[in-house]
Amino acid sequence: MSTMPLIDTHCHLDFEIFDDDRTKVLQRAKNNGITDIIIPGTKKKYWQRITALCENHPQLHACYGLHPYWVNRHSKQDIEQLQKYIDQHRPVAIGECGLDFRPQQADKETQLYFFEAQLALAENNQLPVVIHAVNATETVIQTIKKFNNLRGMIHSYSGSSEQAEQLINRGFYLSLSGSVTYDRAKKIRRAAKNIPLESLLVETDAPDQSDRENAGKRNEPAFLVNTVKILAEIKEKSTETISRQTSCNAKKLFQL
Ligand SMILES: [Zn+2]
Repeated sequence: MSTMPLIDTHCHLDFEIFDDDRTKVLQRAKNNGITDIIIPGTKKKYWQRITALCENHPQLHACYGLHPYWVNRHSKQDIEQLQKYIDQHRPVAIGECGLDFRPQQADKETQLYFFEAQLALAENNQLPVVIHAVNATETVIQTIKKFNNLRGMIHSYSGSSEQAEQLINRGFYLSLSGSVTYDRAKKIRRAAKNIPLESLLVETDAPDQSDRENAGKRNEPAFLVNTVKILAEIKEKSTETISRQTSCNAKKLFQL
């Protein structure tokens, strides 16, 4: 099988679920053409893990941030800690941060506090920001409009084509994950078709969001080729075109 160079722009390789076989996961990624992997930060406790991992593997690139799932476990001082941490260990981006308005998540006010604080940090430090937006794309758009010099990516994009256009106009890339491989994902597929190639990224979001061929399994970077294959069909482009353009976009955004 011929491999195309690909960049997995969102993968939680620092999570414990990879502790037993991380070396093999990285080898399979390499065998499948994955040249670089972006590791988003989620909680303060894990920043150090990510630093160590990226020091040992040049193809891994660190982001530091506080994910909306865990904002209730963090305090406002952790934003200062985040600034200190990025001063010491310059990351490729801030994040992942964002908003998740599903009912089981933290209250909106707390989420918005941590989100805006991290957007300010990204702007002040001239770093891109990695955004998580679930059932919250409209509020994410309104919030980023408060800032004039932001750029970044919306990971595992699930908004509409119209919202995608607004985000692109604000300097954002939209990243698609395995969720686009399912026939039932009509809205995501419609957006995927309309997102211009120059604004597109691909990711696994491993260990979550496996593509349809690997449904129910732990996701991993090597599976990214399946998402790219389906995306090529949706966009009526070759897999080489998707691969070349998304790699180029990722390199530009994260300055790899
Ligand atoms: Zn994530």
